[in-house]
Amino acid sequence: MIVWRQHVRIDSSHGLLAAGTHGVSGADRLVRATPSEAYERHVVRVLNQIASSRVGALVVNRLTAIGRPLRIVPRVNLHQRIAQTPAAVSFDRGANRFAAGVTGREGEHGETNTGLVGTGRGARASIIAFSPGARLTSAQASVYAEDSALVHEMVHSLRALSGHEDGRGIGTHFHNIEEFSAILVENIYRSSTGRHRIRESHRMHDARSFDDRTHAGQESVNDLFRRIYAKPLARFREQEPQLASALATVTAPFNPLRV
Ligand SMILES: [Zn+2]
Repeated sequence: MIVWRQHVRIDSSHGLLAAGTHGVSGADRLVRATPSEAYERHVVRVLNQIASSRVGALVVNRLTAIGRPLRIVPRVNLHQRIAQTPAAVSFDRGANRFAAGVTGREGEHGETNTGLVGTGRGARASIIAFSPGARLTSAQASVYAEDSALVHEMVHSLRALSGHEDGRGIGTHFHNIEEFSAILVENIYRSSTGRHRIRESHRMHDARSFDDRTHAGQESVNDLFRRIYAKPLARFREQEPQLASALATVTAPFNPLRV
């Protein structure tokens, strides 16, 4: 186990066995795993990469300010080995559901709009199931990046830990407020690092640039986004005032929070 920045533990002695894969029934559950130093060091490298960027550092600082434990574990298979699951599975539903499950409620995020809203008390701890290094199809590889995926999950975690989870549907590509919030920050991160295109929806294969719809410069990508997503943006500012105001100072091509 490696402790990173005081509150983050990278722990491969357990892993998330996701329901619905390899004939696993019931709910996602944490099981014993064969520890892997290589896995833990890999996650530390991704965390350091995140923290070295402006947006990533803001997310890390927010988690530090909340001060509750965050654990990062691998996804595992039935043989307790780290699962090389495709990214589409590895960073989203199961991981979020599990992190949310620590609060005592299952299935907060993902593609299900539960309508559940955090009480503001927050979870005592959050767990992210993250298996970097998965083999990807070329479609996945064009969108997926380990650091962006982990930033996304860290946003879910900081919201779970501060009691701001919000599973209310918003009737758009983002499924619900929770996913909108995570993808918003992920996209600002992606844009600020300039290494990956932004995601236009919660589904990976839909990812393409908003530029496709803003040709001829009629409307900037940020104006377009602010117009379409005015309500969920306002909700994000209400729920995450510290993070939103910090992000408002970030210069990036995509940053609808910038004022
Ligand atoms: Zn998510």
